[in-house]
Amino acid sequence: MTTIAQRAEVFAVAVRPYLPIVHVAMFIGFAVLVVGPNVLPESAFAERLGHIANWLIWTLWFPLVFLSVVVTGRSWCGVLCPMGAASEWVNGFGLKLPVPGWLRWEGTPIVSFLAVTVLGQTLGVRDYAGAILEVFGVTMLAALVVGFLYGQGQRKRAWCRHACPIGLLLGVFSRLGAVDIRPKRPEPGGDAYDTRGLCPTNIDLRRKTESRHCVMCVRCVHPDRPGSLTLALRAPGTEVAEIQRHNPSLSEVWFMLLGTGVSLGGFLWLALPQYQALRSAVGEWAIDHGWLWIGMPGPSWLMVVHPEAREVFVWLDFVMIVGFMLGVMLALTAVLVGLQALAAWIAGRLGAVGDFRARFTALGYQIAPAAMISLLLGLGINLFTLLPHTAAGPVKGITLAIAVAWSAWLGMKILSGMGLKGVRAAAALLPGVIGGIAVAAAWWPAVFI
Ligand code: SF4
Ligand code: SF4
Repeated sequence: MTTIAQRAEVFAVAVRPYLPIVHVAMFIGFAVLVVGPNVLPESAFAERLGHIANWLIWTLWFPLVFLSVVVTGRSWCGVLCPMGAASEWVNGFGLKLPVPGWLRWEGTPIVSFLAVTVLGQTLGVRDYAGAILEVFGVTMLAALVVGFLYGQGQRKRAWCRHACPIGLLLGVFSRLGAVDIRPKRPEPGGDAYDTRGLCPTNIDLRRKTESRHCVMCVRCVHPDRPGSLTLALRAPGTEVAEIQRHNPSLSEVWFMLLGTGVSLGGFLWLALPQYQALRSAVGEWAIDHGWLWIGMPGPSWLMVVHPEAREVFVWLDFVMIVGFMLGVMLALTAVLVGLQALAAWIAGRLGAVGDFRARFTALGYQIAPAAMISLLLGLGINLFTLLPHTAAGPVKGITLAIAVAWSAWLGMKILSGMGLKGVRAAAALLPGVIGGIAVAAAWWPAVFI
């Protein structure tokens, strides 16, 4: 009997030759929505296009792409994304230099994500067409430059593997996803980096066990070849529940912690009245000390300068937004790291296998659902405006509660993989549960907005 996975595989392989047409269409769509409102002469049409672009990007595209990883993995990357496709295309005639060490550093996409998220806030990327062009235009340019310079072999995506801020986000949470591309005859040894094969993100295909770098291009899937890879379905969360067998990475844990904190900071500075009080206090203190420049508007490539919309940020706003977001990020990360370290220590005392670092890293993944919902609430909250006003709050509250419960369930599974069960597992789980509840509590103001 043909399974759903086999049908999906046959379908994916059948449409694979047509993907370039999809990529060209998406590239045109990108140009129209991102560039169009900025280059068209001032008119009602240009303004309307800007509004449509804004709505499509922030209300539909970002939240839905983000949620889609739980169902179809990084299918956005392999099937639809114009940036990844363009980066791969220029690589075909590019210099094909080896990927340098600074780009291969696992912190590069984290820095890239944090920079884009903070800059998006200071530029007002959810409100202004010029800010959308700057953020997405610069990202596209960077994808093209990296694709042209780096990546040996045929049609590689060094940008997608090593630097894309969205790719990191989708990669981490694709581990929760229900679709997996896996070798039919897996070889031992664990995941490895392999520039020689056909995989655009340099995965050693025969030893692939993790989802995060797989962009679902299905180039390696051949239903009739026993040595190829195959599309498989699994219960959402399976890879995280068994994370010890799927190449856990400390950098992903750092990303989830820092990403949760920075998106919370990005939400809170807009929502909390205390932020305005703090801003006034800092502004008065600066002026008392002769720092008059803090009241001057900054450059429009760095912050909101839109006198026509009666919104102009001064340096005080820039310093406060950046400082507040990074401050919240560091504070929340410190709390969660402390709790996670406590959980890893308790687990070790109770007989869990692995050294402290391995336990800390594995247990760090239990925060994945809570982190995912945090990022959705922080960066994709517009999605909830599609719901009736009275339903939005309860839906957000229930979503947060489900995420915290899912995190706890994953924690139990991860501890089980370390050899802890029953009361001993519950004791080691407790700090992680407190961490999940702390994240939900921090987002509580979002539920009522
Ligand atoms: S990693 Fe980034 S650029 Fe690459 S396909 Fe995914 S979203 Fe697009
Ligand atoms: S593992 Fe296969 S489907 Fe995934 S990115 Fe590599 S070639 Fe594409």
